[in-house]
Amino acid sequence: MAYFGTVGGDPPRPSCRACRQPIADGEPFIHLRFGSTHEMTGLYHRRCGRPFESFARVLNMNPWGHF
Ligand SMILES: [Zn+2]
Repeated sequence: MAYFGTVGGDPPRPSCRACRQPIADGEPFIHLRFGSTHEMTGLYHRRCGRPFESFARVLNMNPWGHF
């Protein structure tokens, strides 16, 4: 589980990059990385991120030397 280091109050809920809904405690999620600064990098519900998973994997293999 990720912690955000917020002092006081509830930490911000991470939200899914695909459906924009908050990811509830205990809900399965995955972190996908599309390069270090790509706007789609972030947390996804497990079910929402699955379609993107293979895409992220291809990018992270970095066949074009783009880092
Ligand atoms: Zn989602």
